[in-house]
Amino acid sequence: MLIVQKYGGTSVGTLERIEAVAQRVIKTKNEGHDVAVIVSAMSGVTNQLIEQAEFFTKTPIGREMDVLLSSGERVTSALLAIALNAKGYAAIAFSGRGAGIVTDNFHTKARIVSIDPKSMQEALKQGKIVVVAGFQGISTAGEVTTLGRGGSDLSAVAVAGALNADLCEIYTDVDGVYTTDPRIEPKAKKLDRISYDEMLELASLGAKVLQNRSVELAKKLNVNLVTRSSFNDHEGTLITGEEKMEDAVISGIALDKNQARITIRNVEDRPGVAAEIFSALASKEINVDMIVQNIGRNGETNLGFTVPQNELETAYRVMKEVNPNPNSIIESDADIVKVSLVGVGMKSHSGIASKAFKTLADEGINIQMISTSEIKISMIVEAKYGELAVRALHKAYDLDK
Ligand code: ADP
Ligand code: ASP
Ligand code: MG
Repeated sequence: MLIVQKYGGTSVGTLERIEAVAQRVIKTKNEGHDVAVIVSAMSGVTNQLIEQAEFFTKTPIGREMDVLLSSGERVTSALLAIALNAKGYAAIAFSGRGAGIVTDNFHTKARIVSIDPKSMQEALKQGKIVVVAGFQGISTAGEVTTLGRGGSDLSAVAVAGALNADLCEIYTDVDGVYTTDPRIEPKAKKLDRISYDEMLELASLGAKVLQNRSVELAKKLNVNLVTRSSFNDHEGTLITGEEKMEDAVISGIALDKNQARITIRNVEDRPGVAAEIFSALASKEINVDMIVQNIGRNGETNLGFTVPQNELETAYRVMKEVNPNPNSIIESDADIVKVSLVGVGMKSHSGIASKAFKTLADEGINIQMISTSEIKISMIVEAKYGELAVRALHKAYDLDK
């Protein structure tokens, strides 16, 4: 078999951990498999690099950020290849460019457009272990790009797809995908399997165990995806196309702390205003999530929307420029989080939302914004109540049972 293994930041967090990863890779190789390994930066490194850049400015240029951030993964890939070679196993490290990963030109959140797997295939044919620096590629303009936070998962799935791998294993610091973040709710249960669609919702709503675009791509390419721990041999979670036979109504709860809100008071209530505001944001590549507009009064209305925290500053600036009304007041608030319930079973059950609202009310938590879809309910609450909300909902829907 051809197996792609991805090791996240904690799994390669120290030289000893990289050594342990080398042992695991060698074990797989010795079982007779071809192995391509994707690695993250050592834990903390990416954050540290971002902080260093922010010493100079809160809004560094994307191109330079990518030159900076991509270095973390390159260090780990080289170290792992060196460790493997030292143990007598031929290994070759590739940067994103070396692995043939081509992206578009959107610095700091580039999308993969194609992979030319020739160099990787050639190395595998020679019996070498391929080690690829995750989280990065080379743009069509020939510049280094990164794929957005958590992007090494995406690198792994994309490489698995390009090499036509039999299996893509995502090794991390928990045993698999749980009903909610086990660091927030220790009673969370590990799921043996979860559908691509539910995993995609959980990931998009803040469960960082898998990056959302990696799940999307795995579904599209039909990659066999497993998450498991690099610290033990427990069975992980299989992410699969099949839906479970007996669907629990709720499969999981996600908490997204990377949320911020902009509120614009006294927006002119006329056709075209929303278009002006949101096309201005779109032109700056800002991802707007929830939008709430009140019923207008006296020709004016209030508009609120959420954006990722690291895009708040830019969004605020863009709104000041658009200035939807001379007397409009623009406010920003980074002190919010989004709590979401996910489950395909919601489609066929009613009363799920009201139970969620009542659960938070009983805890005295005010819900500031709500959005729903067929398989999810999201609520914005004050940041300090986020974890409490997760635990209360986890209990209310019997996910600990
Ligand atoms: P890596 O560095 O290996 O990519 P991440 O930190 O990105 O690891 O993702 C793993 C973390 O995701 C876990 O440590 C856990 O705290 C968090 N997490 C959030 N939601 C979940 C969930 N539903 N199941 C498992 N882990 C989750
Ligand atoms: N190192 C990058 C990050 O911290 C990518 C990754 O680990 O997946 O976001
Ligand atoms: Mg990750």
